[in-house]
Amino acid sequence: MGDNGKYRAVVLGGSISGLFAARVLADFCTTVTVVDRDALTGVAEPRRGVPQGRQVHGLLARGHQIIEELFPGITDDMVRAGASIGDVAGNLRWYVGGVRLPQSRSGLTALTSSRPFLERHVRSRVQALPGVEFLERHDILRLRATPGRERVTGVVVAGQESGAETVLDADLVIDATGRGTRTPAWLEELGYPRVEEDRLKIGLGYTTCHYRMRSDPYGSDTAINIIGSPDLPRGAICAKVDGDRSVVTAYGVLGDHPPTDPEGLLAFVKSVAAPDVYDALQDAEPLDAPVAYRFPASLRRRYERMSRFPQGLLVTGDAMCSINPTYAQGMTVAALEAVTLRRHLASGTPPKPLAYLRDLATDAIDRAWDLMVGSDLSYPGVEGERTPELLAGQAYAAQVQRAATRDATVAQAYLQVIALMEPSESLAHPDIAQRVLALQDEPA
Ligand SMILES: Cc1cc2nc3c(=O)[nH]c(=O)nc-3n(C[C@H](O)[C@H](O)[C@H](O)COP(=O)(O)OP(=O)(O)OC[C@H]3O[C@@H](n4cnc5c(N)ncnc54)[C@H](O)[C@@H]3O)c2cc1C
Repeated sequence: MGDNGKYRAVVLGGSISGLFAARVLADFCTTVTVVDRDALTGVAEPRRGVPQGRQVHGLLARGHQIIEELFPGITDDMVRAGASIGDVAGNLRWYVGGVRLPQSRSGLTALTSSRPFLERHVRSRVQALPGVEFLERHDILRLRATPGRERVTGVVVAGQESGAETVLDADLVIDATGRGTRTPAWLEELGYPRVEEDRLKIGLGYTTCHYRMRSDPYGSDTAINIIGSPDLPRGAICAKVDGDRSVVTAYGVLGDHPPTDPEGLLAFVKSVAAPDVYDALQDAEPLDAPVAYRFPASLRRRYERMSRFPQGLLVTGDAMCSINPTYAQGMTVAALEAVTLRRHLASGTPPKPLAYLRDLATDAIDRAWDLMVGSDLSYPGVEGERTPELLAGQAYAAQVQRAATRDATVAQAYLQVIALMEPSESLAHPDIAQRVLALQDEPA
């Protein structure tokens, strides 16, 4: 342990979840070292270590709420620098099953920017915190542990230019290296069992391109989100980001992927359930070449089910759970995980890993994961167990979506759930359920 009973932490990975973790660790640790293989300081462009950063990244209202709490004033800073701000129900234009949701003020903030823009703002706040240091352009090689392997004591890293290995001693190491994490293999090398994994294959493909719009497709809106559905499993998103640019992403599931040639992409966008994005692209100026990203399956590592786990090691972010990104939950789950981490740090000593991992599962991940499972399994081609409870939940969710296209109150309740502000049970509240049932026979 370091001075004053405080301790040293090393965060593996300086992307969104690593930055959120560093922010809360800084309140409890003497030093917080954030290690990443990429150059980070001042970087405003997509990074090699975060290839998904080229694709559209929506920030759910719950994630925005936590980010503003962790970094007071960051919303204003981002808006001044070019992010768009609006109301989740009032200024995001949602199409569900091809029908536009009625718009009304929900009080939930929709902050829209590119992923690198958000990351840069969060990163500069974290870098300014006392005790936080960044070790950039360093590869994380392996963990160090006590001879009995019951405790992780640090990590070995190598500078990319020199290749020289350095040992970073730490009282707490937190893995935020994303979906490609090596923690499962490292644990096995240390004599622990292989972590169980849950996977749900979705075969998702994204293609993204940036444009300058010559005519205004938005009006008072900041983004247009035409959601794919089992009837038409293709979607498109168009959002104002970083000043005068628009990001346009098209997606399809189960191998039906948008092409990357501009004409093919346009034809794909034309085939989604509403014309708004296609119309907007008619006279838009492309600013870059379309870029694809493939996401084969949602993946959840069930560390919380392990009977043994080394002291001094925690996991966060996509390294623990990576969810079908069409629900835009990843960064919000990472923010919820930082809140859980903060609670476990409050005792003043490094958290007990299994207690932390169990709370992470229940308090930060379950709700997002369950929403994804219910929705992805509504695609007949997605393989997975469909229990009677799941089928009943799906049937009600379909009714809610139908009613949401007809009624602003139901639309708001639905958006509260998908923004991870409220649990899905809130949709069964009698005030909502009565409206949902009454609206089933109403024409759209
Ligand atoms: C196509 C796509 C679209 C998405 N859209 C959204 C969205 O709309 N909204 C949303 O909230 N989320 C979205 N996500 C999810 C989001 O990107 C992640 O949840 C979020 O980035 C948190 O991830 P992370 O910080 O845990 O890991 P990552 O962002 O993957 O970062 C891992 C970091 O670790 C570093 N690293 C890894 N290995 C090493 C090593 N050995 N040595 C040194 N450094 C290393 C990398 O350089 C990187 O900086 C999307 C994901 C995908 C794939």
